Amino acid sequence: MRPPHVACAQKADEVETLLRFLFRAYEGRVALSASFGGGGIVLAHMVSRIDLRVPVLFLDTGFHFPETVAFKERFAQRYGVHVVDLSTALDATPDALYSTDPDRCCRIRKVEPMQRALADFDVWITALRREQSETRRSINVVDVHAVGGRSILKVMPLAHWTRRDVDEYLAAHDVPSHPLLERGYTSIGCWPCTRPTVEGESERAGRWSGTAKTECGLHSIWAPPPHD
Ligand code: SF4
Repeated sequence: MRPPHVACAQKADEVETLLRFLFRAYEGRVALSASFGGGGIVLAHMVSRIDLRVPVLFLDTGFHFPETVAFKERFAQRYGVHVVDLSTALDATPDALYSTDPDRCCRIRKVEPMQRALADFDVWITALRREQSETRRSINVVDVHAVGGRSILKVMPLAHWTRRDVDEYLAAHDVPSHPLLERGYTSIGCWPCTRPTVEGESERAGRWSGTAKTECGLHSIWAPPPHD
């Protein structure tokens, strides 16, 4: 373990302060979602240090790399976090839907299971960062989303973090990284829709590469309700 860079340590303190506040103010009504590829590991580690009762929602799409599933399980065991696998009506979903209709595939395997899970919570914490892609450049730390006809707080505590901040935090706390990062995957999703990136590409350039799709819909379809 090595001491974190001062700026990174300060950013981490600010995030932990925010999380402590949310976990107290919304006790039992806060959930973190994480895919265990990058920033989600930072936040899941903070959860393990602050309040192990906070659930970590993991979208079990059925198409994760085996390395992702194994890493998630090792992480949960090592840090004791309560990971909740959100599954899909897999029987009703043709396997090749990702190639014929990826938006529908993401809706069935990601958006709808998350929507069902969030019905039980008032605060949804995610690890989105502005640096990840153009589509995420203007995200706020706190936002309001409409889920199932009601408003919930969506909190993105790492909005202003860089990839370097994430790496420094993990190194400083001796937290392992996703093994595929070493093989050039800078953003890790389902295997049919993810490739490694090359230098100069944005972190998420390997997601749905060669198509116009850039997001699964989780972070874009739930606009605030009109009268809020
Ligand atoms: Fe389907 Fe690909 Fe979306 Fe995963 S990322 S849910 S495989 S379209």
